[in-house]
Amino acid sequence: MAEFDYDLFVIGAGSGGVRASRVAASHGAKVVVAEEHRVGGTCVIRGCVPKKLLVYGSHFAEELQDASHYGWTVEGMKFDWNVLRDTVLRDVDRLEAAYISTLDTNRVEHIHERATITGPNSVKLASGREVTAKYILVAVGAWPVMPDFPGNEHCITSNEVFHLPSLPKRVVVQGAGYIAMEFAGIFNALGCHVTVVNRSETLLRGYDQALRDRLLQITMARGIDYKFNSPISKVEKLEDGSLMVTAGDHDPIPADVVLVATGRSPNTTGLGLETAGIALGKKGEIPVDAFSKTSCDSIYAVGDVTDRVQLTPVAIREGHAFADSVFGGTPRSVDHDLVPSAVFSQPPLAAVGLTEGQARYLHGNVKVFTSDFRPMKNIFASRPERGLYKLVVDDGTDKVLGVHMIGPDAPEILQAVAIAVRAGLTKADFDATVALHPSMAEELVLMR
Ligand code: NDP
Repeated sequence: MAEFDYDLFVIGAGSGGVRASRVAASHGAKVVVAEEHRVGGTCVIRGCVPKKLLVYGSHFAEELQDASHYGWTVEGMKFDWNVLRDTVLRDVDRLEAAYISTLDTNRVEHIHERATITGPNSVKLASGREVTAKYILVAVGAWPVMPDFPGNEHCITSNEVFHLPSLPKRVVVQGAGYIAMEFAGIFNALGCHVTVVNRSETLLRGYDQALRDRLLQITMARGIDYKFNSPISKVEKLEDGSLMVTAGDHDPIPADVVLVATGRSPNTTGLGLETAGIALGKKGEIPVDAFSKTSCDSIYAVGDVTDRVQLTPVAIREGHAFADSVFGGTPRSVDHDLVPSAVFSQPPLAAVGLTEGQARYLHGNVKVFTSDFRPMKNIFASRPERGLYKLVVDDGTDKVLGVHMIGPDAPEILQAVAIAVRAGLTKADFDATVALHPSMAEELVLMR
């Protein structure tokens, strides 16, 4: 008889967990995955995917506004939130089914129950069933943080925002990070009045200052109000059901929806990690080594729960590397350097590598090249918004250390240029590449 019920017990069927499960199974392991919510996890069910569809949906506002300059007359234009919301939710259902089918095809058993760890090789399901496994992989992700203030029960997070019963007229967004800036853009484009309130004096901390300034300038011109140094101190619900938000020393801000987007913390509460001797980090994260192994030899963790880089493609790589290392006989770790990222704000921004500030700190002498341009399609549509691309280059080696972009399609362009940065190409390599004309991306090889 086998020593354990399974070779691998995965807790969490999100991006990292599903990838690890199917790859481990393809290496011949007997695998089971437990998920307490829906298969697909944050990215598919209540994150990247439905968010991107809302960005597409709301972006039509800009296209339709600009269409008249291109000869189009659009009569009777109107927007129906319920249609967009329900279509997006149906697509989420479709993707969840696809994920389940992937598990089935790869002979990964799946259980729709919460699982908690009871020891180095054992897990207890919500139904009371005890299961043993040679290895346990924790891939439970992260959960939105709700700061403690009176009336926070009237606020929503990114978990609920996809299910709004109607389009609010006035939205207050707390936070100025990824989720805040993406939803501020969506609601603003859909015609809602948006106020962004943040505890600090900045937005999108970590991105290059020039891009952040440009995003602030464009979104203010589009009608988004900002209140910095103004954490929410209370939210009151009025008799008519509307909300009144007190933030900083500003007059109370009326709102129909208050979206709180103040970070996501690892989902480790009550997971039983202490029964295997695993101590959590300061933010509740599971500390792991380069191979995603915890302090317990039989327990690994990947994705947001480890709080390394909270991005889906990183979780997927970590899950894949774990399965190859433990079950495929090819140990490998994931390089967390030069991970490209994007914010699907309107306009979007994207970056890879060092910001100008980081490069100056780490490398001393750096050269900075910028292209501050008005995209052709904006000029034609009398849209004043300008794009900004920035290359940060090591003065000594000529190596491109960072690329930062804001403007239409910036994430699509950045993915390709991230290959060049990853390959360690120099500014001279960029210069030697012939421009593709007319495009916005050609700016990348024309900066002198
Ligand atoms: P972020 O970390 O991006 O931003 C958090 C924001 O909330 C910041 O503006 C921060 O202020 C503020 N904040 C943090 N803590 C508090 C607090 N206790 N009270 C008041 N304000 C606070 O978090 P998000 O929730 O936007 O997103 C979570 C993660 O999800 C991101 O870090 C990202 O990794 C991932 N994500 C990625 C996306 C993408 O790739 N496009 C899209 C959405 C999410 P400040 O920093 O100014 O002090």
